[in-house]
Amino acid sequence: MDGNAPDPRYWEKMRLVAEVLKAVEGPIYIATHVDPDGDAIGSSLGLYRSLKALGKEAYWVAEPPRFLRFLPKEEEYSDPVDKLPVGATLVALDSAEPSRVVGVPVEGFVINIDHHGTNPRFGHIAVVDPSKAATAQMVKDLIDLLGVEWTAEIATPVLTGILTDTGNFRFANTTPEVLRVAAELVGYGVKLAELTDRLQFRPPSYFRLMGQVLSTVAFHFGGLLVTAHLPEDAKREEEDSDDFVGLIRYVEGSVVSVFLRKREEGVKVSIRSRGGVSAQNIALKLEGGGHVPAAGATLKDVDLDRAYELVLEAVAEELRRAGYL
Ligand code: AMP
Ligand code: MN
Ligand code: MN
Repeated sequence: MDGNAPDPRYWEKMRLVAEVLKAVEGPIYIATHVDPDGDAIGSSLGLYRSLKALGKEAYWVAEPPRFLRFLPKEEEYSDPVDKLPVGATLVALDSAEPSRVVGVPVEGFVINIDHHGTNPRFGHIAVVDPSKAATAQMVKDLIDLLGVEWTAEIATPVLTGILTDTGNFRFANTTPEVLRVAAELVGYGVKLAELTDRLQFRPPSYFRLMGQVLSTVAFHFGGLLVTAHLPEDAKREEEDSDDFVGLIRYVEGSVVSVFLRKREEGVKVSIRSRGGVSAQNIALKLEGGGHVPAAGATLKDVDLDRAYELVLEAVAEELRRAGYL
Protein backbone atom coordinates (compact mmCIF):
# COMPACT_ATOMS: atom_id res chain seq x y z
CA MET A 1 0.00 0.00 0.00
CA ASP A 2 1.19 3.49 -0.84
CA GLY A 3 1.46 5.29 2.47
CA ASN A 4 0.97 8.63 0.75
CA ALA A 5 -2.42 7.72 -0.77
CA PRO A 6 -5.55 9.46 0.57
CA ASP A 7 -7.62 7.47 3.06
CA PRO A 8 -10.60 6.09 1.07
CA ARG A 9 -12.58 5.70 4.32
CA TYR A 10 -11.82 9.21 5.54
CA TRP A 11 -15.39 10.39 6.17
CA GLU A 12 -16.59 7.07 7.57
CA LYS A 13 -13.74 7.03 10.07
CA MET A 14 -14.04 10.71 10.94
CA ARG A 15 -17.76 10.21 11.62
CA LEU A 16 -16.87 7.30 13.89
CA VAL A 17 -14.36 9.48 15.75
CA ALA A 18 -17.02 12.15 16.23
CA GLU A 19 -19.52 9.57 17.53
CA VAL A 20 -16.95 8.11 19.93
CA LEU A 21 -15.94 11.53 21.27
CA LYS A 22 -19.57 12.59 21.70
CA ALA A 23 -20.37 9.37 23.58
CA VAL A 24 -17.28 9.34 25.84
CA GLU A 25 -17.98 10.14 29.48
CA GLY A 26 -14.46 9.67 30.85
CA PRO A 27 -11.46 11.96 30.42
CA ILE A 28 -10.19 12.78 26.93
CA TYR A 29 -6.49 13.59 26.59
CA ILE A 30 -5.32 15.52 23.56
CA ALA A 31 -1.64 15.36 22.71
CA THR A 32 0.66 16.08 19.80
CA HIS A 33 4.24 15.64 18.61
CA VAL A 34 7.55 16.61 20.19
CA ASP A 35 8.90 19.98 18.97
CA PRO A 36 5.34 21.09 18.22
CA ASP A 37 4.81 23.31 15.20
CA GLY A 38 1.82 25.47 14.26
CA ASP A 39 -0.20 22.47 13.06
CA ALA A 40 0.53 20.45 16.19
CA ILE A 41 -0.50 23.26 18.53
CA GLY A 42 -3.27 24.63 16.32
CA SER A 43 -5.03 21.33 15.63
CA SER A 44 -4.83 20.19 19.25
CA LEU A 45 -5.93 23.50 20.77
CA GLY A 46 -8.82 23.76 18.29
CA LEU A 47 -10.04 20.27 19.20
CA TYR A 48 -9.54 20.91 22.92
CA ARG A 49 -11.67 24.06 22.83
CA SER A 50 -14.35 22.24 20.84
CA LEU A 51 -14.53 19.36 23.33
CA LYS A 52 -14.71 21.84 26.22
CA ALA A 53 -17.56 23.59 24.41
CA LEU A 54 -19.35 20.22 24.38
CA GLY A 55 -18.87 20.00 28.15
CA LYS A 56 -16.32 17.16 27.97
CA GLU A 57 -13.65 16.44 30.56
CA ALA A 58 -10.77 17.25 28.23
CA TYR A 59 -7.07 17.83 28.88
CA TRP A 60 -4.66 19.36 26.43
CA VAL A 61 -1.17 18.14 27.26
CA ALA A 62 1.25 20.39 25.42
CA GLU A 63 4.12 22.77 25.77
CA PRO A 64 3.62 25.46 23.15
CA PRO A 65 6.87 26.99 21.85
CA ARG A 66 7.39 30.68 22.37
CA PHE A 67 6.20 31.79 18.92
CA LEU A 68 2.83 30.04 19.48
CA ARG A 69 2.32 30.86 23.13
CA PHE A 70 0.02 33.77 22.30
CA LEU A 71 -2.62 31.28 21.11
CA PRO A 72 -3.65 29.50 24.35
CA LYS A 73 -4.43 30.85 27.77
CA GLU A 74 -2.08 29.43 30.38
CA GLU A 75 -4.85 27.52 32.16
CA GLU A 76 -5.67 25.64 28.97
CA TYR A 77 -2.61 23.43 28.84
CA SER A 78 -1.81 20.62 31.27
CA ASP A 79 1.53 19.28 32.47
CA PRO A 80 2.85 15.95 31.16
CA VAL A 81 1.40 12.79 32.72
CA ASP A 82 3.11 9.41 33.24
CA LYS A 83 -0.05 7.35 33.25
CA LEU A 84 -3.57 7.83 31.90
CA PRO A 85 -6.51 6.97 34.16
CA VAL A 86 -8.38 3.75 33.39
CA GLY A 87 -10.99 4.35 30.70
CA ALA A 88 -9.24 7.39 29.27
CA THR A 89 -9.36 8.29 25.59
CA LEU A 90 -6.26 9.68 23.91
CA VAL A 91 -6.38 11.73 20.73
CA ALA A 92 -2.92 11.94 19.13
CA LEU A 93 -2.73 14.71 16.56
CA ASP A 94 -0.19 15.38 13.78
CA SER A 95 2.07 12.64 15.22
CA ALA A 96 3.81 10.54 12.56
CA GLU A 97 4.88 7.88 15.09
CA PRO A 98 3.58 6.83 18.52
CA SER A 99 7.10 7.56 19.80
CA ARG A 100 6.74 11.17 18.69
CA VAL A 101 3.72 11.78 20.92
CA VAL A 102 4.96 13.88 23.82
CA GLY A 103 3.72 14.40 27.38
CA VAL A 104 1.46 11.34 27.64
CA PRO A 105 1.91 7.58 27.29
CA VAL A 106 0.18 6.20 24.19
CA GLU A 107 -2.40 4.07 26.04
CA GLY A 108 -6.14 3.84 26.70
CA PHE A 109 -8.45 4.12 23.70
CA VAL A 110 -6.18 5.71 21.10
CA ILE A 111 -7.43 7.88 18.23
CA ASN A 112 -4.73 8.83 15.74
CA ILE A 113 -5.48 11.79 13.45
CA ASP A 114 -2.62 12.71 11.16
CA HIS A 115 -1.53 13.51 7.60
CA HIS A 116 2.00 12.04 7.44
CA GLY A 117 2.37 9.32 4.80
CA THR A 118 4.91 7.51 7.00
CA ASN A 119 2.42 7.16 9.88
CA PRO A 120 2.17 3.40 10.74
CA ARG A 121 -1.59 3.89 11.35
CA PHE A 122 -1.27 3.18 15.07
CA GLY A 123 -4.19 3.34 17.51
CA HIS A 124 -7.69 1.90 17.74
CA ILE A 125 -8.95 4.35 15.14
CA ALA A 126 -6.38 5.79 12.73
CA VAL A 127 -7.53 8.53 10.37
CA VAL A 128 -4.37 9.24 8.40
CA ASP A 129 -4.81 11.17 5.19
CA PRO A 130 -1.66 12.49 3.49
CA SER A 131 -3.77 14.33 0.92
CA LYS A 132 -4.73 16.80 3.66
CA ALA A 133 -2.58 19.91 3.91
CA ALA A 134 -2.62 19.91 7.70
CA THR A 135 -3.95 17.90 10.61
CA ALA A 136 -5.83 21.12 11.41
CA GLN A 137 -7.74 20.71 8.14
CA MET A 138 -8.87 17.27 9.38
CA VAL A 139 -9.77 18.72 12.77
CA LYS A 140 -11.92 21.29 10.95
CA ASP A 141 -13.96 18.38 9.50
CA LEU A 142 -14.12 16.71 12.91
CA ILE A 143 -15.37 19.88 14.61
CA ASP A 144 -18.12 20.17 11.95
CA LEU A 145 -19.12 16.56 12.66
CA LEU A 146 -19.15 17.21 16.41
CA GLY A 147 -21.67 19.95 15.76
CA VAL A 148 -19.80 22.53 17.80
CA GLU A 149 -20.67 26.13 17.09
CA TRP A 150 -17.74 27.86 15.40
CA THR A 151 -16.22 30.84 17.18
CA ALA A 152 -13.10 32.91 16.51
CA GLU A 153 -11.51 31.17 19.54
CA ILE A 154 -11.88 27.78 17.86
CA ALA A 155 -11.25 28.91 14.28
CA THR A 156 -8.03 30.81 15.08
CA PRO A 157 -5.89 27.83 16.18
CA VAL A 158 -7.38 25.67 13.41
CA LEU A 159 -6.48 28.25 10.77
CA THR A 160 -3.03 28.58 12.37
CA GLY A 161 -2.33 24.91 11.62
CA ILE A 162 -3.38 25.37 8.00
CA LEU A 163 -1.34 28.57 7.62
CA THR A 164 1.88 27.11 9.03
CA ASP A 165 1.72 23.75 7.20
CA THR A 166 0.97 25.42 3.84
CA GLY A 167 3.59 28.16 4.34
CA ASN A 168 0.75 30.71 4.24
CA PHE A 169 -0.86 29.05 1.19
CA ARG A 170 2.37 28.87 -0.83
CA PHE A 171 3.13 25.13 -0.78
CA ALA A 172 1.80 22.50 -3.20
CA ASN A 173 -0.62 21.21 -0.54
CA THR A 174 -2.68 24.42 -0.97
CA THR A 175 -5.67 22.97 -2.82
CA PRO A 176 -8.90 24.81 -3.72
CA GLU A 177 -10.46 22.92 -0.77
CA VAL A 178 -7.82 24.31 1.62
CA LEU A 179 -8.54 27.84 0.43
CA ARG A 180 -12.30 27.29 0.82
CA VAL A 181 -11.82 25.96 4.37
CA ALA A 182 -9.55 28.90 5.19
CA ALA A 183 -12.10 31.37 3.82
CA GLU A 184 -14.78 29.76 5.97
CA LEU A 185 -12.58 29.97 9.08
CA VAL A 186 -11.80 33.64 8.42
CA GLY A 187 -15.56 34.13 8.22
CA TYR A 188 -15.85 32.96 11.83
CA GLY A 189 -13.93 36.04 12.94
CA VAL A 190 -10.24 35.15 12.71
CA LYS A 191 -8.13 38.30 12.36
CA LEU A 192 -6.04 36.98 9.47
CA ALA A 193 -3.48 39.77 8.98
CA GLU A 194 -2.92 40.04 12.73
CA LEU A 195 -2.50 36.28 13.00
CA THR A 196 -0.02 35.87 10.11
CA ASP A 197 1.97 38.82 11.43
CA ARG A 198 2.04 37.46 14.97
CA LEU A 199 3.12 34.02 13.79
CA GLN A 200 6.34 35.47 12.36
CA PHE A 201 7.42 37.19 15.59
CA ARG A 202 10.75 35.91 16.97
CA PRO A 203 12.88 37.14 19.88
CA PRO A 204 15.83 39.44 19.09
CA SER A 205 18.30 36.63 19.82
CA TYR A 206 16.80 34.63 16.95
CA PHE A 207 17.97 37.20 14.43
CA ARG A 208 21.51 37.17 15.78
CA LEU A 209 21.42 33.38 15.64
CA MET A 210 20.26 33.56 12.04
CA GLY A 211 23.50 35.35 11.14
CA GLN A 212 25.54 32.55 12.69
CA VAL A 213 23.47 29.86 10.98
CA LEU A 214 23.74 31.55 7.59
CA SER A 215 27.53 31.67 7.93
CA THR A 216 27.47 27.82 7.80
CA VAL A 217 25.59 27.61 4.47
CA ALA A 218 27.28 25.17 2.10
CA PHE A 219 26.47 23.85 -1.38
CA HIS A 220 26.89 20.28 -2.55
CA PHE A 221 26.37 18.29 -5.77
CA GLY A 222 26.82 21.38 -7.90
CA GLY A 223 24.35 23.37 -5.82
CA LEU A 224 21.50 20.83 -5.89
CA LEU A 225 21.79 20.49 -2.11
CA VAL A 226 22.13 23.36 0.31
CA THR A 227 22.96 22.71 3.95
CA ALA A 228 23.37 24.73 7.12
CA HIS A 229 23.70 23.92 10.80
CA LEU A 230 23.47 25.45 14.20
CA PRO A 231 27.10 26.19 15.18
CA GLU A 232 27.95 24.34 18.38
CA ASP A 233 29.24 27.51 20.01
CA ALA A 234 26.22 29.55 18.91
CA LYS A 235 24.65 31.61 21.62
CA ARG A 236 21.34 29.93 21.65
CA GLU A 237 18.37 30.66 23.83
CA GLU A 238 16.08 27.78 24.63
CA GLU A 239 13.24 29.78 23.18
CA ASP A 240 14.74 30.29 19.73
CA SER A 241 12.76 28.68 16.98
CA ASP A 242 14.53 26.43 14.51
CA ASP A 243 12.83 27.04 11.18
CA PHE A 244 16.02 27.93 9.31
CA VAL A 245 15.50 25.23 6.70
CA GLY A 246 12.61 27.35 5.41
CA LEU A 247 15.12 30.13 4.73
CA ILE A 248 17.87 28.22 2.92
CA ARG A 249 15.46 26.28 0.70
CA TYR A 250 15.22 29.31 -1.60
CA VAL A 251 18.78 29.13 -2.93
CA GLU A 252 18.49 29.28 -6.73
CA GLY A 253 19.12 25.93 -8.40
CA SER A 254 18.71 23.86 -5.23
CA VAL A 255 16.28 20.95 -5.02
CA VAL A 256 17.07 19.78 -1.48
CA SER A 257 17.87 21.72 1.66
CA VAL A 258 18.91 20.30 4.99
CA PHE A 259 19.34 21.99 8.34
CA LEU A 260 21.20 20.15 11.11
CA ARG A 261 21.27 20.87 14.80
CA LYS A 262 23.09 18.93 17.51
CA ARG A 263 21.00 18.03 20.51
CA GLU A 264 21.48 15.81 23.53
CA GLU A 265 19.85 12.77 21.91
CA GLY A 266 21.65 13.17 18.58
CA VAL A 267 21.52 15.39 15.53
CA LYS A 268 18.10 16.58 14.39
CA VAL A 269 17.83 16.92 10.64
CA SER A 270 15.17 18.97 8.81
CA ILE A 271 14.77 18.26 5.10
CA ARG A 272 12.87 20.13 2.36
CA SER A 273 12.72 19.24 -1.33
CA ARG A 274 11.20 20.11 -4.71
CA GLY A 275 11.47 19.14 -8.38
CA GLY A 276 10.66 15.44 -8.06
CA VAL A 277 13.05 14.88 -5.15
CA SER A 278 11.49 13.33 -2.03
CA ALA A 279 12.51 14.66 1.39
CA GLN A 280 10.47 11.75 2.73
CA ASN A 281 12.71 9.18 1.00
CA ILE A 282 15.79 10.90 2.43
CA ALA A 283 14.27 10.98 5.94
CA LEU A 284 13.29 7.30 5.73
CA LYS A 285 16.91 6.39 4.90
CA LEU A 286 17.85 8.20 8.11
CA GLU A 287 15.12 6.39 10.08
CA GLY A 288 12.88 9.42 10.25
CA GLY A 289 9.70 10.27 8.38
CA GLY A 290 7.35 12.99 7.24
CA HIS A 291 5.88 14.29 3.99
CA VAL A 292 7.28 14.13 0.46
CA PRO A 293 8.34 17.81 0.37
CA ALA A 294 9.10 18.22 4.11
CA ALA A 295 10.47 15.56 6.42
CA GLY A 296 12.87 15.02 9.28
CA ALA A 297 14.90 12.57 11.32
CA THR A 298 16.99 12.42 14.47
CA LEU A 299 20.35 10.68 14.07
CA LYS A 300 21.12 9.05 17.39
CA ASP A 301 24.58 9.04 18.96
CA VAL A 302 26.43 10.83 16.18
CA ASP A 303 28.41 14.05 16.05
CA LEU A 304 27.78 16.79 13.51
CA ASP A 305 30.55 15.61 11.12
CA ARG A 306 29.16 12.07 10.98
CA ALA A 307 25.64 13.45 10.56
CA TYR A 308 26.78 15.44 7.52
CA GLU A 309 28.29 12.26 6.01
CA LEU A 310 25.06 10.32 6.53
CA VAL A 311 22.96 13.15 5.10
CA LEU A 312 25.17 13.51 2.00
CA GLU A 313 24.97 9.74 1.36
CA ALA A 314 21.19 9.68 1.73
CA VAL A 315 20.71 12.78 -0.44
CA ALA A 316 23.04 11.41 -3.15
CA GLU A 317 21.00 8.22 -3.32
CA GLU A 318 17.73 10.16 -3.68
CA LEU A 319 19.23 12.54 -6.27
CA ARG A 320 20.29 9.47 -8.29
CA ARG A 321 16.81 7.97 -7.99
CA ALA A 322 15.24 11.23 -9.17
CA GLY A 323 17.65 11.39 -12.14
CA TYR A 324 19.74 14.39 -11.05
CA LEU A 325 23.03 12.50 -10.64
P1 AMP B 1 10.71 19.45 10.71
O1 AMP B 1 11.88 19.45 9.82
O2 AMP B 1 11.01 19.09 12.11
O3 AMP B 1 9.90 20.70 10.57
O4 AMP B 1 9.78 18.27 10.20
C1 AMP B 1 9.25 18.22 8.89
C2 AMP B 1 8.11 17.23 8.84
O5 AMP B 1 8.60 15.91 9.09
C3 AMP B 1 7.06 17.48 9.92
O6 AMP B 1 5.80 17.18 9.37
C4 AMP B 1 7.45 16.52 11.02
O7 AMP B 1 6.33 16.16 11.77
C5 AMP B 1 8.04 15.36 10.26
N1 AMP B 1 9.12 14.71 11.03
C6 AMP B 1 10.21 15.30 11.55
N2 AMP B 1 11.02 14.41 12.17
C7 AMP B 1 10.40 13.21 12.08
C8 AMP B 1 10.70 11.88 12.53
N3 AMP B 1 11.81 11.60 13.23
N4 AMP B 1 9.80 10.90 12.24
C9 AMP B 1 8.67 11.17 11.55
N5 AMP B 1 8.35 12.38 11.09
C10 AMP B 1 9.17 13.41 11.34
MN1 MN C 1 3.65 18.98 12.70
MN1 MN D 1 1.11 18.78 10.10
